Amino acid sequence: MRRDFEYIVLGLGGLGSAAAYWLARRAGRDVLGLEQFELGHVRGESQDHSRIIRLSYHTPGYVELARRAYAAWADLAAEAREEVVLRTGGLDFAPRRSAIPLDSYRSSMDAAGVAYEYLDAADIMRRWPQFRLTSDIHGLYQADAGIAMAARANAAHQRMAREHGATLQDRAPVVDIRAGRGEVDVEVEGRGYRCRRLVVAGGPWSNRVLGHFGIELPLEITQEQVTYFATPHQDAFRPDRFPVWIWMDDPCYYGFPVFGEAGTKAARDAGGRPVTADSRTFEPDPANTAGVRAFLSKYLPTALGPEIYTKTCLYTLTPDRDFVIDALPEADGVYVAIGAGHAFKFASVIGKTLSELAIDGQTDVDLSPFSIDRPILKEKNPARSYMV
Ligand SMILES: Cc1cc2nc3c(=O)[nH]c(=O)nc-3n(C[C@H](O)[C@H](O)[C@H](O)COP(=O)(O)OP(=O)(O)OC[C@H]3O[C@@H](n4cnc5c(N)ncnc54)[C@H](O)[C@@H]3O)c2cc1C
Repeated sequence: MRRDFEYIVLGLGGLGSAAAYWLARRAGRDVLGLEQFELGHVRGESQDHSRIIRLSYHTPGYVELARRAYAAWADLAAEAREEVVLRTGGLDFAPRRSAIPLDSYRSSMDAAGVAYEYLDAADIMRRWPQFRLTSDIHGLYQADAGIAMAARANAAHQRMAREHGATLQDRAPVVDIRAGRGEVDVEVEGRGYRCRRLVVAGGPWSNRVLGHFGIELPLEITQEQVTYFATPHQDAFRPDRFPVWIWMDDPCYYGFPVFGEAGTKAARDAGGRPVTADSRTFEPDPANTAGVRAFLSKYLPTALGPEIYTKTCLYTLTPDRDFVIDALPEADGVYVAIGAGHAFKFASVIGKTLSELAIDGQTDVDLSPFSIDRPILKEKNPARSYMV
């Protein structure tokens, strides 16, 4: 087994699989990806059929990054000869006074020249009679939003990384890392590897990995969950008839048309209890499910039906909910990405950006909001605001 590589990617979830793919497009056999569990496992953040992808975001920077995300997914789809994004349209809706005001979403899309429609409650119900809304509710509809096919996209990144020559190793937990003299030594239980550039995409395990460099970020890991409901109105919730949606208030809920299972999917955003990757359980929280049910019965009653299943998943949250995508100041040649509970839609472009940092030492993506050195990440107990 070869021990020396130019590039090693630690963690082959959504972001790491993308990084391995984009690195392998340029560096082929010089790329090694290491994943502690089996590929496609369900202990991290990137499993399941679907994630929302959207241009609608609260800053022009995120809108621009989302544009690049669509382009990166399209490049992957073309190479993999497999669709990984399904456009359904997306509706952001809320009371006119809400915890997540729609104004910043409108101004960010205006600034970026993204077309969208501003709708009142009657407009929304005319177009999608599935909704039951009161007149104080308004919304934004953006036609490019839809579903990033999470599990399929991860598998496509992995398959194509291998086609480009990368070695991807599952069941390979990295237990030690030492960086110095332009090299990084990476130890996987009894085996040592060496590279020039290391990309860390450890998801909920990020702080454990960063601990090898003496870094601890004020991350909060939460145990989240999603529920599939066997609506008896499957046809009304087909992806060509019904959009992905986000309720922009606190609590924040979101949902999908029928995709991947014989039912709709809905969930509460950032409503889970704090855990660690070790202490988490796979047991759904009944109070969380009850909240989702109550929301749907009020605003989207025909989406409901018997529960097919509820599955748990982790968020790795930064206090400001912005990503970390940066070079480690503490160690030459080490790059890190942390997704802050909304990164899947960006997975491919984050992987591409990491590959540019690792190969070229630079990227034209504006990474300033995602700096690992930003003041809030230096605080021990920062104020946390997840509703953005
Ligand atoms: C319920 C839920 C809904 C979400 N909805 C959306 C959405 O609609 N839209 C959106 O854009 N985003 C969404 N997200 C967020 C998005 O899915 C995550 O931000 C993204 O998947 C993070 O990917 P990751 O690669 O950072 O983490 P992970 O997928 O967890 O990958 C990290 C990997 O690193 C591996 N690893 C860690 N340490 C080691 C080690 N020492 N050695 C080897 N391997 C290691 C882990 O095993 C894991 O496979 C959602 C997340 C959840 C949980």
